[in-house]
Amino acid sequence: MAKLNEYCPCGNAKPYTACCARYVEGNEPAPTAEALMRSRYTAYTLLKEDYLLETWHPTTRPTSLGLAEEVTTKWLGLEIKRHEKQDADHAIVEFVARYKVKGRAHRLHEASRFVREAGQWFYVDGDLD
Ligand SMILES: [Zn+2]
Repeated sequence: MAKLNEYCPCGNAKPYTACCARYVEGNEPAPTAEALMRSRYTAYTLLKEDYLLETWHPTTRPTSLGLAEEVTTKWLGLEIKRHEKQDADHAIVEFVARYKVKGRAHRLHEASRFVREAGQWFYVDGDLD
């Protein structure tokens, strides 16, 4: 039986190296908004702040995320609820991410907007449920 940690943090039933790693660490652009969403969730779990900032649209990108100070966040899982392609270069991905901070469970439910420019998808912003 496969151990849980052989699976990618994004929830796909394949190892990180065969899933999000090629986007997070391999310079390969995520082919869809959903793939970008998954890889960004994975990047949060691995504290890959550079990748999160690179894939954040310049118009809404924060200067930093301070992830190094957030090591108390334990990410528990991602569930993609909806992937809506509005046109070739705009999409909405609705998701629920579960995490714990200091033993308390939280749930982040967001509908995120993504845009593709010059072949690369970017996270723009999102509406919290
Ligand atoms: Zn993945």
